[in-house]
Amino acid sequence: MLVQTLPDTMTKLAQMGDATIYEPAGDQPQQEHRRGAYQSRSLAECITNVSTPKGSLPIVKTMLTTACERNCYYCPFRAGRSKMKRLTFSPDELAQGFDTLQRAGQVEGMFLSSGIIKGSVTTQDKIIDTAEIVRNRYNYRGYIHLKVMPGVEYEQLYRLMQLADRVSVNLEGPTQERLDALAPKKDFQRELLSMLQLAEQIRRTHPYEKLAGTVTQFVVGAVGDTDQELLSLSNRLYRQYGLTRAYYSGFSPVIQTPFENLPATDPLREHRLYQASFLLRDYGWRVEDLPFMSDGNMQLELDPKRAWAERYLREAPIDIMKASRNQLLRIPGIGPVGADAILRARRRGRLTELSHLRQPTTVIFGRTLDATPTGTCSLTNSNHGALICGFPQRKTFQPRSDTPSCRSTTLASIKGNKFNSG
Ligand code: SF4
Repeated sequence: MLVQTLPDTMTKLAQMGDATIYEPAGDQPQQEHRRGAYQSRSLAECITNVSTPKGSLPIVKTMLTTACERNCYYCPFRAGRSKMKRLTFSPDELAQGFDTLQRAGQVEGMFLSSGIIKGSVTTQDKIIDTAEIVRNRYNYRGYIHLKVMPGVEYEQLYRLMQLADRVSVNLEGPTQERLDALAPKKDFQRELLSMLQLAEQIRRTHPYEKLAGTVTQFVVGAVGDTDQELLSLSNRLYRQYGLTRAYYSGFSPVIQTPFENLPATDPLREHRLYQASFLLRDYGWRVEDLPFMSDGNMQLELDPKRAWAERYLREAPIDIMKASRNQLLRIPGIGPVGADAILRARRRGRLTELSHLRQPTTVIFGRTLDATPTGTCSLTNSNHGALICGFPQRKTFQPRSDTPSCRSTTLASIKGNKFNSG
């Protein structure tokens, strides 16, 4: 007689580690634990150090169920995929498991997603139930990131935003056409984009309530999506829907899916998308400013800020004595901190020598003097006595994280006569 024992809660949690591969959760997604697609075996594999607004925290990333009635072409949890072991928690069970882990000091937060079973609304209710038990029965006040299921109801979304620090609505593709090629049963406008619209509406309707920020995720490179499509939509989401962050997850093929033979996306493309996305979100750039090529993509070899500068700054260098803050932010090596330092130095008097920048900048940039160089920007004395930002020779680019090079190069120091990248 074959006797099969049911796995206990911790074993199930351990086996759900695959959820961690496909769901970036923190502010530095490329630093989150990445590995090949397989079913995890140890609990440690399911706990990821995630950069959150509350600092870097060990987060358990898990799912209410790895079963799903939908069949997105790229997804390991798609219906009918026999290589995926299907495991399901009840809200009680998962909340209790999380409470055990966090009381033992093993985790300081939870990222909770789910496959869809019996429709989005039913599945969303279970996610809400889990979060309510964690918050109310176990009195947990720490970090929670919850997934919004496609096309849920207004009240469900509102409740999710009350319970969580962050909620994610994964758009997956930048248009209905791209989404059709990735996830044939999803409706781009009605089920996904409208969730982000609603979230912003909820924030505006309840301005004094502490509500979760919204993020989204794109699957990049499987179905011909272009950087221009992805960044145009990201920009719209930042401007109109109050999106906190867009994640760009380079496609990686999963065996026993319709996409198993497609090539994986170059990780450098993810990196360039993050750089460009930060220029749009934090540096006041417009989509039209980004250096797209004729095929709608950006060059992989150059960071987008540098590519723009190569195109425009060589012939028309920026005079940092006169440049506005936004113009300063166009210069590779100068980010918000650097631009503000230059503006402050300018207010003290005319900048005619690099030594005039030394004091305000070195204090600010001192903590990252030894950071890896990611770009170049030199300040050279012009013939007219003002400082002009021009272009020295290029340095080799070394991608480190999703941090935009313009931010890391902002953290620069003045060494000798150079404004060296930090
Ligand atoms: S709905 Fe989500 S879990 Fe289900 S197949 Fe699609 S991406 Fe995967």
